[in-house]
Amino acid sequence: MALNLILLGPPGAGKGTQAKRLAERHGLLAIATGDMLRAEVAAGTEIGREAKAIMERGELVPDALIIAMLRARLATPEAKAGFILDGFPRTVPQAEALDALLAEQGMALTAVIELAVDDQALIERIAGRFSCARCGAGYHDRFKPTKVPGVCDICGSTEFVRRADDRPETVAARLAAYHRQTAPLLPYYRAKGLLVTIDGMAPIEAVAEALDRVIAERAH
Ligand code: ADP
Ligand code: ADP
Ligand code: ZN
Repeated sequence: MALNLILLGPPGAGKGTQAKRLAERHGLLAIATGDMLRAEVAAGTEIGREAKAIMERGELVPDALIIAMLRARLATPEAKAGFILDGFPRTVPQAEALDALLAEQGMALTAVIELAVDDQALIERIAGRFSCARCGAGYHDRFKPTKVPGVCDICGSTEFVRRADDRPETVAARLAAYHRQTAPLLPYYRAKGLLVTIDGMAPIEAVAEALDRVIAERAH
């Protein structure tokens, strides 16, 4: 059976950081709907034009738009070997649509892993988040600085970006959207016996080890 995972958690919980590592380590396709949307915005596509203002307000883009995007990505051959979803689903209708899509394709979820982090820590993580403008590697001013100041560890680039929606004004709206619209997915997946909660307050390496343990237990 392919390893099909969902990483669930509030903005700044460490989903992207851990999803990238897991994808490499286990040969999975990482599907990050936030990254996909930011690419659409940067390319000025119709989807990007529809999503831009909504994302800047810290609200969720419409389910129909995001489900169509995901359907296309899940249908690719790379997804068949196993995937890790980061940032999707974010609402109960999205989770229901995912169940239908997976059933259609003869696929099933291995586990839904929640990274649990306090709101106060999230605010600090989001405030210090930046990434490489060339390769997308993720960093943090305090918790994950580049090894050489101003130079990307991975590709050597000296250009970095901060997300437009990581401003403090927007973060409160994003946390509110998480608690109101996404947190109901926790009981949804618990009822299916798929939910595993990990302490996301631990350092990056400790969270990574906890994820590997969960996968070792679940993947057979
Ligand atoms: P998400 O994808 O859930 O929004 P990220 O993976 O982008 O979260 O992490 C948010 C910020 O916090 C990044 O700057 C990242 O380097 C940092 N970070 C991620 N995991 C941890 C951790 N366990 N402890 C401290 N900082 C972390
Ligand atoms: P974070 O890493 O902070 O959790 P993401 O990069 O996943 O944030 O998402 C950034 C923004 O993109 C969200 O605030 C929302 O506007 C939009 N977005 C991403 N994924 C979804 C989704 N599954 N449903 C609706 N909106 C989404
Ligand atoms: Zn880089």
